[in-house]
Amino acid sequence: MSPSHQIPKNYDIEEVERRWQDTWRDEDNYFDPGSTKPRFIIDTPPPYPTGNFHIGNALNWCYIDFIARYKRMRGFNVMFPQGWDCHGLPTEVKVEETYGITKNDVSREKFREMCRDLTVGNIEKMRATMRRLGFSVDWSHEYITMLPEYYKKTQASFLQMLKAGDIYQSEHPVNFCTRCETAIAFAEVNYVPRTTTLNYFDFDGIEIATTRPELLAACVAVAVHPDDERYRGMKGKRLAVPIFGHQVPIIEDVAVDPEFGSGAVMICTFGDKTDVYWWKQHHLELRKAIDRKGVMTAIAGPYVGMSSGACREAILRDMEKAGILKRQEELEQRVGTCWRCKTPIEILSERQWFVKIHRDDIMDAARKISWSPEHMFARLENWAESMEWDWCISRQRIFATPIPVWFCDACGEMILPASEDLPIDPTVDTPKTPCPRCGGTEFTGEKDVLDTWMDSSISVLHVTGWDGGDGKPPLFQAQLRPQGHDIIRTWAFYTILRAKALVGSHPWDQILINGMVLGEDGFKMSKSRNNIISPEEIVGTYGADALRQWGAGGATTGSDIMFNWNDVVAASRFQTKLWNIFRFVMGHLEREADPEAPVTELTDRWLLVQLSDTVAEVTDAMEKYQFDRALREIREFAWNTLADDYIEITKGRLYAEESSRASACSALRTTMDVLCRILAPIIPHFAEECYHNLTGRSVHKEAWPDFAYDDDEARRHGDLLVKTVAELRRYKHDRGMALNAPLGHVMIYAPEPVDDAGDAGRALAADARWSTGTPRLEEVVSGVDFNMAVIGPTLRKLARPFMDAVQALPPEHLRNPPATLTVNGEEIPVPPDAFTPKVAYQVAGEEVDVLTLGDVVVTIGHSS
Ligand SMILES: [Zn+2]
Ligand SMILES: [Zn+2]
Repeated sequence: MSPSHQIPKNYDIEEVERRWQDTWRDEDNYFDPGSTKPRFIIDTPPPYPTGNFHIGNALNWCYIDFIARYKRMRGFNVMFPQGWDCHGLPTEVKVEETYGITKNDVSREKFREMCRDLTVGNIEKMRATMRRLGFSVDWSHEYITMLPEYYKKTQASFLQMLKAGDIYQSEHPVNFCTRCETAIAFAEVNYVPRTTTLNYFDFDGIEIATTRPELLAACVAVAVHPDDERYRGMKGKRLAVPIFGHQVPIIEDVAVDPEFGSGAVMICTFGDKTDVYWWKQHHLELRKAIDRKGVMTAIAGPYVGMSSGACREAILRDMEKAGILKRQEELEQRVGTCWRCKTPIEILSERQWFVKIHRDDIMDAARKISWSPEHMFARLENWAESMEWDWCISRQRIFATPIPVWFCDACGEMILPASEDLPIDPTVDTPKTPCPRCGGTEFTGEKDVLDTWMDSSISVLHVTGWDGGDGKPPLFQAQLRPQGHDIIRTWAFYTILRAKALVGSHPWDQILINGMVLGEDGFKMSKSRNNIISPEEIVGTYGADALRQWGAGGATTGSDIMFNWNDVVAASRFQTKLWNIFRFVMGHLEREADPEAPVTELTDRWLLVQLSDTVAEVTDAMEKYQFDRALREIREFAWNTLADDYIEITKGRLYAEESSRASACSALRTTMDVLCRILAPIIPHFAEECYHNLTGRSVHKEAWPDFAYDDDEARRHGDLLVKTVAELRRYKHDRGMALNAPLGHVMIYAPEPVDDAGDAGRALAADARWSTGTPRLEEVVSGVDFNMAVIGPTLRKLARPFMDAVQALPPEHLRNPPATLTVNGEEIPVPPDAFTPKVAYQVAGEEVDVLTLGDVVVTIGHSS
């Protein structure tokens, strides 16, 4: 190779990537509101600012950045905004830990301020990682949900839906985390398996089995199946609840499973969702035995003040003492837990705020969106079908968007702020006018705050320019929503719901779902498994582009990726290979005077045909967000076609001083130019470094290559040439010859006349010629191959003398064996298939080797 003198031998990842990151300007990635180009607006996920931009984020943002960069090159006015979804419990918990306080030790406003300060610092850390990964974010469209200019829109959206009747407050059973002391939505409940105890006890003469004895105080009925003979005629009878003594009715319901235990179940308010169903169906009483902190209430009598766990133990002990606990068995069950802290959830009846779920409207809107991969739509559909309750949006926390509502102390009227007064905090601010109903001037602000999904589910309205008023935002809808499959039932579902409710339409043209990143051990990354890999760790050694290649090539878009260091190493190796190719090419281009020289020679035209095919494939793959396929096509082209085939074949011509090297240089210049462009979305630093050396310009300001090169003859002949040279190199290798060892006369008989400009001969160190004829081969028998599997068992002792006798036969008898042979003076039959003649070929008296490659025949003569 003759590497360029100006281009360093080694590609210094850290130096190159940092240099370009310092050179690129944020302004280059800004969405241009005045542009007439078609828009491409991305509803980027706003991550939770933990301070740690993890590898799963990195994968998702790789996809987004590939798309943003690709679309810019395709002439779109791209908006790649970046939001931060700040509110929520983890930050509250972190603040409590950091300062050694609980949220009740300081004022609400002071506590919020501490949360905001922590969040600001965390956002700064995550921004730095995003910049180091080379993401082309439009920082002029950054939004932070905890800031007034954002959450006033959350409040406006709340008021709009409240006025439209889509939001209401009601006392209703909700999922409640007693550790977080807040209601949570169904989407935030995770079901996990656990082993528990099923306790059989005597309930006033009927056997009942329960896993929740601590709820006995909340028992409101005993239910049996109407067809259960054991309880015939008992409907309406009343039973005394053991230990507590209050009376409850026996009711009948077809949902009772007669096969379970004795066929009778106790209904408590509330053990699970079925209890809620029965409670509603049969208009049962409500008995709250557990409060918001998970502590037993006064209804629990002697157990008041105990934690539910302690109460459970105490009741079981008391049942045993009373002689009513009959037996206990282990039971596998799935229990709902809080998604944030994993505490088993309780179902508590509370006054809460709800958003109505109009399932059909939501699904109609969801069907107007193109889902990629398509099967992810089913996840949304299944979720929507399984929803039984409305979305509970109120939370009993602090660091969140306040619910902008007051109540009149005198008459209870709900008072709403004017939209121009938003944002407000009803626990601090007061209404500007007296109560419209009674003229009262004393008000109580709503203390509950909003679910953080209420903030993030209007992200698409925000980025498309919504001002909180009626009507469609000016840039609505967005073109793309990229997100993980773990938040389909939350973020995707809620965003569709809100867009439909507030704007009357679906939020995006397309949704692209990315998979999760698993640890090297195949498990979800977690501290306890010690299998966490951070983006910084990868970038520190292999650079951002290697991580980005890993992201592109790791899996089909939408599938989970198991992290594997080997993939990162392979990505890095590919870059080294590309760098070596690039240096080699630049070395030759620097020697070439005429960059305008036409591409005339076969191999050069063939290269451009292959390049054209590659551009078509990569373009198609990028359009379909198949980044793994795009990268694979580029790798195959660069590594196999360009380096292994083309450069190996044309190297000789490039070093020669023939005029035909100008054709090769032109083909290489075009190839490197196009290759840099199709690499630019995936490895932007590397592509920029090469392109800048090649042209002096930035590849990120260039258009996506519209490169088509049609040359059927070059495709056919070039394929023949490449195949033939590869076969002959293998031929040399099989014979232990050095690749540059001379090969003598090589005749290549092809179906059409081929002019390879001498490339095959130079590549093979041979006197290689192409011909359209057929070789005038003379076949000569040059020896014999014995089949010992036949000869051994058949002839035994006579095998050796038989073989000697065969060797002595004239060539025509080797082709047509005689029926018998005389061996050791004895006439013996020649066994069938005992031997085959070895055939050699001669051309004009010179012995040659013959290779047949499809319809090409190659003869190799050694007596040069
Ligand atoms: Zn919790
Ligand atoms: Zn009033």
